[in-house]
Amino acid sequence: MRPCLFISTIFVSTLFFGFRSLTYPVEITGHIKKNPKDTSAYVEHLTVFVKGGRKILAKALTDDKGNFRLSFTPMKEKSFDFFCTGIGIDTLLIESVTTFDSDEVEMTFYVPGKVKTNALGKVICPKCKRTDKVYEIQYGDNPISVRHISSSGDTTYSRIYKGKYYEDCEVRPAKYYCDRDKIKF
Ligand SMILES: [Zn+2]
Repeated sequence: MRPCLFISTIFVSTLFFGFRSLTYPVEITGHIKKNPKDTSAYVEHLTVFVKGGRKILAKALTDDKGNFRLSFTPMKEKSFDFFCTGIGIDTLLIESVTTFDSDEVEMTFYVPGKVKTNALGKVICPKCKRTDKVYEIQYGDNPISVRHISSSGDTTYSRIYKGKYYEDCEVRPAKYYCDRDKIKF
């Protein structure tokens, strides 16, 4: 084989396989487990969905043991955010990943998610990996809502007050809220 033909063969196959790995579907075998530190949530018949940006890429229901299967084709999403929700369970972010190691992955999630803290003991948001917009959720019957009026006269309501995020008792078991991503975990 002539050198230039050989090189172009490598180039073409790299292109082909590189492209292939981006567009092939990912099969996920998932397991939702109770967080040993907070076993108040149940794991059966939860809705699990994965979002890339604002788009829902796939959705599934867990079985009696908290197992589920999901399949979708990653495109150029910056991250893949796994959420779960159910009766009395708020929409929780259970994991955020930027890439998958292979086309078939097995993943274990906890509800509520295991909380990670930095060296200073501050809670890290699983999505933005930062701590500065994370608020602890305070549950109550009549959650506080603070009215903000902007200079242009627009009124918005915020549930953040004195460093806590206020939420109704009806939904649980999220422990924290990130105001940057508008997610609970
Ligand atoms: Zn965040």
